[in-house]
Amino acid sequence: MPHAATIPEIIRNAPIPTWFGVGGRADRMVRPQTLDELRACLDLDPGLRVLGSGANLLVDDEGVGDLVVRLDAPRFCRVEFGEDDGVVRAGPGAALARLILDCTRRGLAGVQGLAGVPASVAGAVRMNAGGRFGEIADVVRSVTILERDGTMRTLRREEIAFSYRTSGLDRVVILEVELVLSPGDPTVLRRRLLEVMAHKKSAQPMGAKSAGCCFRNPVLVRTIEGIGSAGQRVSAGLLLDRAGCKGMAVGGARVSERHANFITASRDAGAGDILCLMDILADRVEQTFGVRLEREVVVWGRR
Ligand SMILES: Cc1cc2nc3c(=O)[nH]c(=O)nc-3n(C[C@H](O)[C@H](O)[C@H](O)COP(=O)(O)OP(=O)(O)OC[C@H]3O[C@@H](n4cnc5c(N)ncnc54)[C@H](O)[C@@H]3O)c2cc1C
Repeated sequence: MPHAATIPEIIRNAPIPTWFGVGGRADRMVRPQTLDELRACLDLDPGLRVLGSGANLLVDDEGVGDLVVRLDAPRFCRVEFGEDDGVVRAGPGAALARLILDCTRRGLAGVQGLAGVPASVAGAVRMNAGGRFGEIADVVRSVTILERDGTMRTLRREEIAFSYRTSGLDRVVILEVELVLSPGDPTVLRRRLLEVMAHKKSAQPMGAKSAGCCFRNPVLVRTIEGIGSAGQRVSAGLLLDRAGCKGMAVGGARVSERHANFITASRDAGAGDILCLMDILADRVEQTFGVRLEREVVVWGRR
C-alpha cells in the first residue's frame, strides 16, 4: 500500500549530528511525526538509514545519498512506566540517559550499569550497548520493529540475536522497546549510577569528540601472553595500547592517551582522517599480535 500522501518535509543537504562532529551531510533528511509518515518514508526509500543520537556513527566526508530519518518527534520519544510491574516502554528516540535517571528515581533497577553511555533507546538496542556493568539486552523484554516493507512486528527477547555489541536488528527500524526492571532502593541505585559514571570518567575521554570504542573486543584464536588465552574475548584497547598506538594521529584524528580504543577528533578533523587512522591502527595490531580488529563504529557513506 503506498503512503505517498504523508511523506514529511524533506530537508535537503542537512547536517548529520554525530558525537564525532565531523563528516558530510545528508542529501535528504526527514523527521516523521507519525507512524504513517515513517511508513511513507520507507516507500520513498526502502534503503533509508535511521539516525539515533549519533554516538556510534562516523559519516564519510562525501555525505550520504540515502534518505536519513531522525525519530525525534514526540511520538517516537515517549517513555511509559507500568504501574507496579517494572515494565518500561520507550520510543526509539527517547534519550537513554533520561530513561536511566527516571528509572533510578522510581526505584527501578537494571539500567544503572549503562550510565554514561550516550544513546537513543533504539541505538542502544541496535548496538546492544553496554560494558563491564551489563548490557541493555539484560533488561529487554520485547522490541517492536518496522520491516522495510512496512510490516510491524513485535519480537520477544528470545527471538532477537543479541550478543556482544550486536542485536542482529540491522535491517529493520526499531519502533518501541519494552524493558523489565526489578525493584530497588532509589538511594542505592543513585549511588550505583554515580559509581558507574565515575568509573567511565576515569577510564574514558568523555569530554572529547569521539564515538566511544572504535573497535570491537576480539576473541583470541591463540593465547597471547599478557593479553589473554585462546577463545577469550579481550580488550581491543589493551591490544592497541600494547601495540604502542596511544597518541598516534592522522590530521585532526588522534588516539586518546586515556583509552587506546577511543579516537578523538579535533575541530578541523575530517572523517577521512579518522578512517585512515583506524586502518593504520588495525594494521599495527595485526602486525604486532596477528589479530585483525573489526570496527565497532558504524560508518555511513555513499554506496
Ligand atoms: C563518549 C562515548 C562513550 C561511549 N561508551 C559506550 C559504552 O560504554 N558502551 C557502548 O556499548 N557504547 C558506548 N558508546 C557508543 C554509543 O554510545 C553506543 O553504541 C550507542 O548505543 C549508540 O546509540 P545512538 O542512539 O547514538 O546510535 P547511532 O550512533 O545514532 O546509530 C548507531 C546504529 O544504530 C542504528 N539505529 C539508530 N536508531 C535506530 C532505529 N530506530 N532503528 C534501527 N536502527 C537504528 C543506526 O542506523 C546505526 O546503525 C560510547 C560513545 C561515546 C561517544
